[in-house]
Amino acid sequence: MRLTGYVVLGVAVLVAVNLYAFVWGRKSLRNVYRTSQVDRVRESGKKKKKAGVRAAVVRKRGPNRFLRMPRAITERTMVEQEEDALLEIEAFTVHGRIRRGDNLYSSLKRVGVNRLLGDIIVRTLDHLYNFRRARPGQKLKIRLSQDRQRLLGFEYQASPGEIYRIVRRGKKLLAMKVTRPVVTRIFELAAPVKSSLWATFKSMGEDGRLLAAFTAIFSWDLNLYTDVHPGDVVRLIVEKQFQGDELIRYGRVLAAELVGKRKRVRAFWYRPPAGSGGYYDEQGNSLHRMLLKAPLRYKRISSLFDPKRMHPVLHVIRAHNGVDYAAPQGTPIWAVADGEVVFVGRNRAAGKMIVLNHENNVRSVYMHMHGYRRGLKKGDKVRQRQVIGYVGATGMATGPHLHYGLKIGGVYVDPMKHNRTRRPPVAPKYRADFIHCITPLSGTLGSLRTGDKPIRRPAGATVLKTVKKYRGR
Ligand SMILES: [Zn+2]
Repeated sequence: MRLTGYVVLGVAVLVAVNLYAFVWGRKSLRNVYRTSQVDRVRESGKKKKKAGVRAAVVRKRGPNRFLRMPRAITERTMVEQEEDALLEIEAFTVHGRIRRGDNLYSSLKRVGVNRLLGDIIVRTLDHLYNFRRARPGQKLKIRLSQDRQRLLGFEYQASPGEIYRIVRRGKKLLAMKVTRPVVTRIFELAAPVKSSLWATFKSMGEDGRLLAAFTAIFSWDLNLYTDVHPGDVVRLIVEKQFQGDELIRYGRVLAAELVGKRKRVRAFWYRPPAGSGGYYDEQGNSLHRMLLKAPLRYKRISSLFDPKRMHPVLHVIRAHNGVDYAAPQGTPIWAVADGEVVFVGRNRAAGKMIVLNHENNVRSVYMHMHGYRRGLKKGDKVRQRQVIGYVGATGMATGPHLHYGLKIGGVYVDPMKHNRTRRPPVAPKYRADFIHCITPLSGTLGSLRTGDKPIRRPAGATVLKTVKKYRGR
């Protein structure tokens, strides 16, 4: 009886425990399970919140199709097309540039594009471009889906005229090379001089290369450091060469003008039907002279040619056999005429010196130079306005300047007074052609009436028609 009582009690306890486990316990067990899962999510959320968010985005859009690439498809479903359209709407473009020490991957990383996409780019363009050839300055453009997981497009500008492109067509990525031809466009420019010539060219949206060309055209007659003043006006008609929208270089300056208070100079490029081209004034006189007005752009003349000068360092009467041009150290020095190098080296008080031999027994001498043009040596041929060295203060000099001397028939002459013969004018038989060619340019220069604001516009029909005549010459 006692035993029976224990057995009944035991069975009752078992039933109670089982009932608890099956009826109430299930709920609580589920709770325990749930809690542990939430904890796990929280934990991973703490550690890599970004990954969690990205995973969620991916799930929302379906599996990462990018990873399944490339798989050829023959037909695009409506859904796919819709998805593509959606991706395109949400897409964004990232611009980058190869920097010094960069490769494609590091420059992509800098703009937040992962290595996987880098691999896809390299592989897709593999047969067209080797990214080991990547050089600093090259530009890239990448189009991505908003989650940055999918490549929608890529463009790599190896040079302004050489572009490698990846475009997406459904699930396929297509690679292509695009070459852009050089296109010449002509512009009419004008601006008032406010401070410097450099600032004037900048105000027209042009750069130092055009300023250099402009300076070169007038350097036979003007020193643009000292002969240009605020209130003067600069006008040009110039060829500009583009690849796409990018300016590659300037072509010919077809016409140029500087209107100053005291001086007005005009230059027209003209090439006769036979012979070489050059710059002329409106009367057909050549602007080219045998010798440049000065062998550099200078700030001021610090000492003139003077056979009886008191020497500034030695304080004795000593002939000054040339002209001293004060200019900042490093200013380029030009050969005053075509010629041959007969001396390069140090010469005591003269410091670093160059002597050039020209036609008609003329020699030019350059002293106190900081350095010579790299590689220049005795016997080299030089062209007029070619850089031969740089302003310095070597030898006996009180500051950076160029001493420039000119010898004719072995005797020093005053370079400022020396007759600087011009090249011959337009030949009489080409005179009508010359007038015909420059009249529209001259008229156009005159029509560029700039007030306070610069003018920059594509050339009109008159100019374009004239320039057609030059083509092929
Ligand atoms: Zn001197």
